[in-house]
Amino acid sequence: MTSPCIICVAITGSLPTKANNPAVPISIAEQVESTQEAFEAGASIVHAHVRNDDETPSSDPEKFAALKEGLGKHCPGMIIQFSTGGRSGAGQSRGGMLSLRPDMASLSVGSNNFPTRVYENPPDLVDWLASQMVKYDVKPEIEAFDLSHILKAAQMHAAGQITTTPYVQFVMGVKNAMPVDREVFNFYIKTVKRLFGSDAHWCAAGIGAHQYTLNEWAVAAGGHARTGLEDNVRLDRDTLAPSNAALVQRVVDLCTDHERPVATWREARAMLGLRPSSGV
Ligand SMILES: [Zn+2]
Repeated sequence: MTSPCIICVAITGSLPTKANNPAVPISIAEQVESTQEAFEAGASIVHAHVRNDDETPSSDPEKFAALKEGLGKHCPGMIIQFSTGGRSGAGQSRGGMLSLRPDMASLSVGSNNFPTRVYENPPDLVDWLASQMVKYDVKPEIEAFDLSHILKAAQMHAAGQITTTPYVQFVMGVKNAMPVDREVFNFYIKTVKRLFGSDAHWCAAGIGAHQYTLNEWAVAAGGHARTGLEDNVRLDRDTLAPSNAALVQRVVDLCTDHERPVATWREARAMLGLRPSSGV
């Protein structure tokens, strides 16, 4: 495997707090600083949620705008992906920031269980979020918590609701959703290639202690890898991750082990069919 590996860093999420790990960036300034370190370590996509001052999740477009401005300044060229996930808001407020035209946004196309609740993605909201992404030229990243979500993405692609080749993120290890299962992982890859072409790009994320497992599987299988404090706050059972950059470095090391170059932001943009970064 010699194709470059795109590293996505999910810096904050909507759940972890400073009580879990003081390195979780909460304020916009902290988010920009943490992302810059991760960018310099090798990440080319930042997946971002925003928070209120009391660490609760927010979907305030003004916060997203401030984050985008800071990232543009300090991480020029990096691919900015905003979360439209359901933990940060309700209904159409989840997509209120899409008019800011980030490069990408996460898109969940079906519902499933989460640890303590139903992760609700009703069809009309999925359709609306997808339509906003078309309107503002935002490439969706399909969050596949289940096999059906990959097939749903194919249907939406065929219907013109997703206008570019779907980029699928396999998420494994969320309690009550898809467990970490190698046979299913292999079938996910097979399904993506069957539906979207043998050269279709895909990515994988594991939650908690499974993060490193999924990083290794993805790097070894020719996919792209997501890491970051949103999904996991530890280096191992006894050690908190000191930063998002430290988690990125683990993936960089895996790429070295598997003889895969780490994608630059230019390479990542080309592979994902994204517009060149403005002003760079
Ligand atoms: Zn997220």
